[in-house]
Amino acid sequence: MRIAEKKSSSAWLLRLLLLLLVITCIWAISKLQAVGQQYDDLSSQLSKQPIVIASEQIGDTRIKIPSYDLFDEENIWVLVSRDQLLSSEFKPELSDVTVPHGDANSPMKVATVISDSLESLVNAAKADGHDLMLSSAHRSREDQQRTYDGFVAESGTELANLYVLPPGGSEHQTGLAVDFSSASTPCELDSDDCSLSTSDAAWLADNASRFGFILRYPEGKTSATSVRYEPWHYRYLGPVLAQAVDASGLTYEEVIEQIVPGYLRSR
Ligand SMILES: [Zn+2]
Repeated sequence: MRIAEKKSSSAWLLRLLLLLLVITCIWAISKLQAVGQQYDDLSSQLSKQPIVIASEQIGDTRIKIPSYDLFDEENIWVLVSRDQLLSSEFKPELSDVTVPHGDANSPMKVATVISDSLESLVNAAKADGHDLMLSSAHRSREDQQRTYDGFVAESGTELANLYVLPPGGSEHQTGLAVDFSSASTPCELDSDDCSLSTSDAAWLADNASRFGFILRYPEGKTSATSVRYEPWHYRYLGPVLAQAVDASGLTYEEVIEQIVPGYLRSR
């Protein structure tokens, strides 16, 4: 009798332990899924599998690098600058912008991958009393060539190389960069008459990274970016990296050199 009781109580204990184990496993899997979610989102945007291959400390934030392919020119972490030119074959996937913009009668385009985030940002700004529009978005290689050639004809190559980015060297070619303006009728009629107020610029500096955008050419960082301070120019990196870069106070050049040493010289 005693032995039978003992057997039955240890069987119950075993069942209880098994149940606890199952509950712990379910809890752990759900935690892992939550962590992986943001990378799944990013990867589904890029039709790639979420493979976390490394992690990197950016300022105070540790971020995961799902795939180094993200730094390729067709992807959202590409670095484009005066020294890091896009290839002449580069063609981004574009969509018409869904937010108010200058030259309202001609369509303006951005990379399809940033369209929803851009709309969310502009709506959030409006809700906070900041009425924004775009003064510029995607520009083609031909547009950039025309701008560059025009400047060379007027002021010479030396000055052009100081003030205008060469074809292949402008982030606007990727469709991942936009120039913001405060909303106004003159801007709507002619994007040359757009301008960004100090208070709208401050809202963007405080909030844009939540939507995945960084201030790409910050004040006092011209030696790193080779572009003067542009409070209106924002570049999409996705919220994970944008918030890490923003909090670090580093430029994208400095961050990319840390994540992918040699990237800046390898192209
Ligand atoms: Zn710009």
